[in-house]
Amino acid sequence: MIDGRILKNSGRMMKVLLIGSGGREHALVWKIAQSKHLEKLYVAPGNGGTELIAENVALDIADHKAVVDFCLANGIELVVVGPEVPLVAGIVDDLQAAGILAFGPNKAAAQLEGSKAFTHALCDEMNIPAAGYARFTEAAPARAYLAKQGAPIVIKADGLAAGKGVTVAMTAAEAETALNDCFSGTFGSAGAEVVIEEFLEGEEVSIFAVCDGENFVTLASAQDHKRAFDGDKGPNTGGMGAYSPAPLVNDELLARIEREIIAPTFEGMAARGTPFRGVLFAGLMVRDGVPKLIEHNVRFGDPECQVLMMRLESDLLELLVASAKGDLSQIDLSWSNKTALSVVMAANGYPGPYDKSTEISGGDQQNDENVHVFHAGTKRVNGKLLANGGRVLNVTARGNSVSEAQQRAYSAIEKIEWADGFYRRDIGWRAVAREKDGT
Ligand code: AMP
Repeated sequence: MIDGRILKNSGRMMKVLLIGSGGREHALVWKIAQSKHLEKLYVAPGNGGTELIAENVALDIADHKAVVDFCLANGIELVVVGPEVPLVAGIVDDLQAAGILAFGPNKAAAQLEGSKAFTHALCDEMNIPAAGYARFTEAAPARAYLAKQGAPIVIKADGLAAGKGVTVAMTAAEAETALNDCFSGTFGSAGAEVVIEEFLEGEEVSIFAVCDGENFVTLASAQDHKRAFDGDKGPNTGGMGAYSPAPLVNDELLARIEREIIAPTFEGMAARGTPFRGVLFAGLMVRDGVPKLIEHNVRFGDPECQVLMMRLESDLLELLVASAKGDLSQIDLSWSNKTALSVVMAANGYPGPYDKSTEISGGDQQNDENVHVFHAGTKRVNGKLLANGGRVLNVTARGNSVSEAQQRAYSAIEKIEWADGFYRRDIGWRAVAREKDGT
């Protein structure tokens, strides 16, 4: 069990279990592995990249008892939870009940991502700027509301729906279809309640802040690319690429986001008796310098985490332990001034159906200190690297400018051979255009 001291400057070593298997988790594993406090790192279940730097364990992460038992049997002192599903399911509560420290919010605080209606109610209570909305549990009044509001409009299943529960409807017909999907059970219980939101125009940015229940440190800004194809075309995905920092977020805007959105979220959670510990990922829409909240997530973004980890110079384990223990007072993070940019390579067909077990070569290259290939859906079989999911590799690079980071990432991609994959060729286009304009 970890003692009362803060890890920082303690010379203390610890055994850590990280939960998850995506590119986000490979980036966290890579950074935690650099910590001077790390004794041993396990990942459950991990992927073909994490197994090269940590020990993958085949645990069913939905089985909290199995996770707790593994921790007790192996002397794990900190569990870092990557994805939202176990957080919303209360894995942190179950670990804490067994006396195991965990990074991430408990079930009550994870509602910030687990229920869109919950977050809207908090925003109302704390005057946090967000889209106008209405909530419905029945189809008829929801349809009547839609008819009154017209399109464009946004339909959201209230609960977690693996990133598929949101429809930005540009026509009334699309809105109607989305509503029918929710109420006909497409998203299971996640769609039993529906939130209909005002369509916000502007530019999207993500801000990450780690909280200890009361105080917080803002990490960095990032921009994601949600659409599958170049020019922001095609279906929505989990994210096809990201870069950090987001040049749109200057000091003034960041201060405003902290004051109007991040701080009141944490204050509101503490006031309700459900303080937030872990990382908050606020998805924002910015228009004419005015930020509005689109959604809160209670974990690192994927692929935003990959670019944040490429820029973080401080010891990540110290930050995670400080948040989990409820005292960030000694944490002072330092960041590289460089831009980091990550390009996702996905299996042909993603986000629809795709083949698995297709062979990849060149996926383990480490060209130099400025390029890192983080794995997402990969596995190794008989010494071969195979695709094992929709998003498969995150080719991530650092540069003195967005253009330089972009050029390095795409040069690294040229060394990867994977006939069954695709990637966007314009990741970072907004920031590159800004760089060229000098704005
Ligand atoms: P979410 O799953 O909430 O991240 O939503 C997915 C995407 O839908 C977001 O990244 C936005 O691009 C878009 N979106 C969600 N809510 C709104 C909104 N109220 N107005 C405009 N776009 C939205």
